[in-house]
Amino acid sequence: MKILSGKEFNLLSELISINSVFPNEKEIGDFLFDYLKKSGFKTQKQYLKSDRKRFNVLAEKGNHDKSILFYGHMDTVPPYGNWTQSPFELSERNGLLYGLGVNDMKGGIWAILESVKHHEPVNYNLKIAFGFDEENISKGAFLLCGHEFVKDVVFAVIPEVGTSSKMDGKKSVILGRRGRILIEITVPGISAHGSTAKAGINAIREAMRLIPHVLKVELLRHPKLGSENIFVKSFHADTSALAVPDEASFVLDWHIVSPDNEKSCLEKINRIIDNLYERGIFKTINDRRITAKLFPRETPYLLPYTTDEKNQIVKTFIKATGRIFGKIPVRYGLSVADENVFAEKLSIPIVVSGPYGGCEHHFDEWVEPQSLLYLRDSFTEFLLSL
Ligand SMILES: [Zn+2]
Repeated sequence: MKILSGKEFNLLSELISINSVFPNEKEIGDFLFDYLKKSGFKTQKQYLKSDRKRFNVLAEKGNHDKSILFYGHMDTVPPYGNWTQSPFELSERNGLLYGLGVNDMKGGIWAILESVKHHEPVNYNLKIAFGFDEENISKGAFLLCGHEFVKDVVFAVIPEVGTSSKMDGKKSVILGRRGRILIEITVPGISAHGSTAKAGINAIREAMRLIPHVLKVELLRHPKLGSENIFVKSFHADTSALAVPDEASFVLDWHIVSPDNEKSCLEKINRIIDNLYERGIFKTINDRRITAKLFPRETPYLLPYTTDEKNQIVKTFIKATGRIFGKIPVRYGLSVADENVFAEKLSIPIVVSGPYGGCEHHFDEWVEPQSLLYLRDSFTEFLLSL
């Protein structure tokens, strides 16, 4: 293994060397702010009110009525697992580049910076936004949607990784993503001394009895986004003493497709629960019933979206990308990202086009360098076709 010294990826190497594991995006934010300023962009920081160390970096060029936005998230997940090198050093091994965030999504940020640095906008303003907290609960994306900066944006390009329904390693353009919600279900029991456990009702046993029923909830299928999926993400029950637990709770993790949303999903679960009571499969315990609610979250849940393939700028983007990468398939992402926020809040077409890489949210994250060069060139090609 060698530490990469080639000039081409010097900037990427700098990005990887800056630790930006959420919530510590300040250093990389300052770096990107200075870099864009030096590249001739009008720049500003959009601060999170409750924590001034966290901010989105916004940059723009041009004097037109409408804008094209390039977006990337600055944060990474922590370095999980057993890295065979320092996660904060860009290194090369067998023709691939390794480093934390190299695929998700500092490689994409590099491609944006390299393609826009000499671009002079012709018909649309060129806007760039780098957000924080994507790997957590998208606080940066929600904050951005409330800013004047995005009001004239008509199209967004995001070089994010997109786990798609076909994992054949081919480069793709992603035109939609499923949404995701969490539902917490609380199940009552009756406590009793552990030595006479049968005198009580063990809430853990009740919850285990319930789980197969709720997992049979109707899962929708969408012609583009595919099917929903659901699983039990966590389970909790405990007692402080030698006693039968009188409450258990578990959380359902549900990837959804339209037209499902928080309300319809919660209704479906509640119908199942009501039905189990009506049929006497569960009984009210001292006036306590099984309850279901959305698992509390500081920002709203992310809803599914699709981008219209027939939109003119989408077509222009796909053509430009195809001229560099060769024929590329259109696909739909299995999971959520900041794009879900933009699609809902800004109602604009969004294309996701990232490099070819893997092992994100895992150890030894990698990217293929040629795909980064192609990505940079495809963005340049797109900007020139506008
Ligand atoms: Zn990402």
